[in-house]
Amino acid sequence: MENKQLLQIAQEFGAPVYVYDAHKIESQFNRLTAAFKSVKQLKLNYAVKALSNINILRLMDSLGAGLDTVSIQEVQLGLAAGHKAENIIFTPNGVSLEEIEIAAKLGVQINIDNLSILEQFGSKYPDVPVCIRINPHVMAGGNSKISVGHIDSKFGISIHQIPHILRIVELTKMHINGIHMHTGSDILDVDVFLYASEILFEAASHFENLDFIDFGSGFKVPYKEGDIQTNIEEFGKKLSKRFNEFCKCYGKPLTLGFEPGKFLVSEAGHFLAKVNVVKQTTSTVFAGIDSGFNHLIRPMFYGSNHEIHNVSNPKGRERYYSVVGYICETDTFGSNRRIAEITEGDILCFKNAGAYCFSMASNYNSRYRPAEVLWKDGKAILIRERETFDDLLRNQVDQAHLFEPQQVEATK
Ligand SMILES: *Cc1c(COP(=O)(O)O)cnc(C)c1O
Repeated sequence: MENKQLLQIAQEFGAPVYVYDAHKIESQFNRLTAAFKSVKQLKLNYAVKALSNINILRLMDSLGAGLDTVSIQEVQLGLAAGHKAENIIFTPNGVSLEEIEIAAKLGVQINIDNLSILEQFGSKYPDVPVCIRINPHVMAGGNSKISVGHIDSKFGISIHQIPHILRIVELTKMHINGIHMHTGSDILDVDVFLYASEILFEAASHFENLDFIDFGSGFKVPYKEGDIQTNIEEFGKKLSKRFNEFCKCYGKPLTLGFEPGKFLVSEAGHFLAKVNVVKQTTSTVFAGIDSGFNHLIRPMFYGSNHEIHNVSNPKGRERYYSVVGYICETDTFGSNRRIAEITEGDILCFKNAGAYCFSMASNYNSRYRPAEVLWKDGKAILIRERETFDDLLRNQVDQAHLFEPQQVEATK
């Protein structure tokens, strides 16, 4: 999106505001699809937790993506947005059996990640097909180190517990129709992913009647020019080849699944905020914006480095700024960033603001959560209103009578 368009949106809808470029989401979807074109059955389930506005979910439906959900509420949002139940996979961690039962009754694909629930669910509903989340014990950290045998993760059923799974399946006569993994990290190194995939193939070979193998997500996206990112095209070529070979050995064409969140929506998002003050201290020039980690927590929470641009003065001379929020504790978006000269009232744009930004926003400091705008076919369309004072009070129960001055009885 161009600076001019972003600035217009900030003027029209006010700042702070989130803006999502529908075209970018579509092009990322097409890129991932193209990378796996030699696989006959490919299924991309968008990870709802990245950005859960129902219009984004509708957009995903229109592109042909299903949904990956981690709570019953995400399932309900997906259904409300018009997704068919069979296009939704429910991949929770640590939720109750009751929650899984509700999801099963809604007809979504169940994915189970622990032996206790597997046994209970299988005993009660042997006819409901279930996918199993495997923990391959491969850790792909920022430095792409392989750490096999990493056993302290709370996710998935350990690859070493396949015999337990098989025993439960045999006793309950349940039907396992999918095998899944999601290592959860920013994956830089294609070989690490391929290595984990081999472990998943091995696990899959123990089950006779699968319909799909789901390789989760964890694709790394660039945050600035020249940033390392997962080479999707290379990855697609290599994994497709291996997947097609596996299907031949397995004796049945399977569906290859992914659950991208960040990859589909991160770069499509822009967060726009107004500069309230430019504050020169003895050591630093601060640009204090009309927002804080209540709206964009990733820099403080994960140390994420979102690029920041001055869309009001894009051609201005670059100077060093520390961009900070208005929250009453340390609230830094970026330290010593080179940004085109900032004047109070300017609009700053934070890039990569599509994934895990609005969806992690809160009302901390009793602020309103921002509006959300979709940029589609050259038009800016409001998809969530900015909150108002009523929203802050909505669920509070005012017990004013508890605090009325007590009548003091006159002493006799
Ligand atoms: C969060 C999550 C994803 C999405 O991960 P990204 O890194 O955003 O692509 C996929 N699958 C599961 C099970 C998740 O919890």
